[in-house]
Amino acid sequence: MNANLDDLYQQVILDHNKNPRNFRKIAACTHTAEGFNPLCGDHINLYITVTDNTITDIAFEGSGCAISTASASLMTQTLKGKTIESALSLFEHFLQLITGKAIDDQNIAFVAKLKVLGGVAKFPSRVKCAALCWHTLKSALLESKHPVSTE
Ligand code: ZN
Repeated sequence: MNANLDDLYQQVILDHNKNPRNFRKIAACTHTAEGFNPLCGDHINLYITVTDNTITDIAFEGSGCAISTASASLMTQTLKGKTIESALSLFEHFLQLITGKAIDDQNIAFVAKLKVLGGVAKFPSRVKCAALCWHTLKSALLESKHPVSTE
């Protein structure tokens, strides 16, 4: 059965692309990183405020395709209030989700609303768009000084 593009661009993704949540700069953030996906032209700047090992604020700016913008928007919504360990563990489960690997029930619940991005697994060229913000997150949290590239 051929995957239908309409399945990929679900209403939730279109909504987050049109009205991205937490789309702003945090001037006094504690962590920041920049990410590029040269394959598609997606670009993101991520800003995170960590207080006592918990992500108390997270926001992004950038430009890119609907999938990269929606993914970043959903990520910032999901991660606010989470610990760094929890965020990095969610990143691993999210990668499993978008590459079509099986996730057990407990972790599917953990991934929660990010499930709408699971459709990219059928479109290999879109996986990097969805993963860009997460790679950038990891770089920011681990305080790498180099810009992230998916290539
Ligand atoms: Zn893209």
